[in-house]
Amino acid sequence: MFWDKDIETIDRPSLEKLQFEKLQKALSAAASTSFYQKVFEEHSVNINNIKTLEHLKDLPFTTKQDLRVSYPDGMVPVSRSQIVRMHASSGTTGKSTVIFYTQKDIDDWANLVARCMVATGTNRDDVFQNMMGYGLFTGGLGLHYGAERLGCMVIPASSGNTLKQIQLMQDFETTVIHITPSYALHLVEVINEQGIDPHQMLVSKAYLGAEPYSEATRLKIENQFGIDAYNSYGMSEMNGPGVAFECTYKNGMHLWEDFYIIEIIDPDTGEVLAPGEEGELVLTHLNREAMPIIRYRTRDLTRIIPDQCECGRTHYRIDRIKGRTDDMLIVSGVNVFPSQIETVLMSFPEVGNNYQIVLEREDNLDRMHVKVELYSKMFHGEIKELEQLKARLRESLRALITINPRIELMEPGSLPPSMGKAKRVFDNRSI
Ligand code: AMP
Ligand code: ZN
Repeated sequence: MFWDKDIETIDRPSLEKLQFEKLQKALSAAASTSFYQKVFEEHSVNINNIKTLEHLKDLPFTTKQDLRVSYPDGMVPVSRSQIVRMHASSGTTGKSTVIFYTQKDIDDWANLVARCMVATGTNRDDVFQNMMGYGLFTGGLGLHYGAERLGCMVIPASSGNTLKQIQLMQDFETTVIHITPSYALHLVEVINEQGIDPHQMLVSKAYLGAEPYSEATRLKIENQFGIDAYNSYGMSEMNGPGVAFECTYKNGMHLWEDFYIIEIIDPDTGEVLAPGEEGELVLTHLNREAMPIIRYRTRDLTRIIPDQCECGRTHYRIDRIKGRTDDMLIVSGVNVFPSQIETVLMSFPEVGNNYQIVLEREDNLDRMHVKVELYSKMFHGEIKELEQLKARLRESLRALITINPRIELMEPGSLPPSMGKAKRVFDNRSI
């Protein structure tokens, strides 16, 4: 099933031709903003010299800091009266940044989201419960408009208020949910606590996004719920959700290349890497009137999956986001991504749905402390059993990240649950 088959299955030469045409428009729109005027001047960029897609790499990057500097509208080429909406980043790092949309931008975005949802088999008969925060965050309204465009019945539940969520799911026979992975883990626990069997509910799909999570977490959510979970990727700077989405093959996320140019760069040198190599994702928005953004450094680490997907879509897929260049922890000189720790923890059936990583400095040495909730159904309360589990967890983590963490096993439900983007790393080391 396709939303827009011609464009989703377009051959690469035609796609590149389309991208180049759109790039020229995006560049001339950008060049009319005060921000890019200054940047292009500083870097002696003449956009008329961009004669092929290859030349894109000659242009400077745009960073989150640039968006802050040009706050509120230094990157906007249209007049205020043409703008119909704004959103802001949830502030994964630092102060939030603002994004503007014209009516056409909102329409295009809704179509892209509808395209994503159709790629997972959702259709107008579905009941879609959106458990992402509504408001400035794009996760709420972004999926909302896409699901309406597709013709689903939308329940704009927003995040939190878990008992109410469950009631809505039951009363209105929700079939598809949109949720952060951390909140999904909490939700399924509460469903069980209520004496409801999640497998008996009608929900059959979850769209999981807004924060990094591991394949093991996906499997855990799928098994506990009895559903298919699809990875959903986006960021406010590129509209919000709908940038890249998994199809029914669940093997990487199609990044919609008629809307975005993908580059993967070495985060240290800025050099563009070959397809397949892992690095930082850089995106150029080809379609936005109210805010053209050229070569945006997402800080997200991934790679292009260059081979063709079995679904027939020709747009490149990107791999699960491994982490951000700025969430990498350096513990005793070793680079560690929280996602690596999560992968190990979630592969243990005895481990429950929540954990925290706490870093401390003791006697000038880094100590990693991992607090993990136990899964109630697997735990019979024997001290010996717990000690063995601790040792196995420690050993698995040490084997992967070469650091010997201190493990603390916690009772189910004892760590604070997350309703939105989870905060799981607490770095208490004073520098
Ligand atoms: P925001 O602009 O507030 O929506 O935050 C966007 C950021 O959330 C992205 O740059 C990623 O770091 C993160 N993010 C969104 N979706 C995913 C996903 N599916 N997997 C991993 N990280 C994600
Ligand atoms: Zn596919």
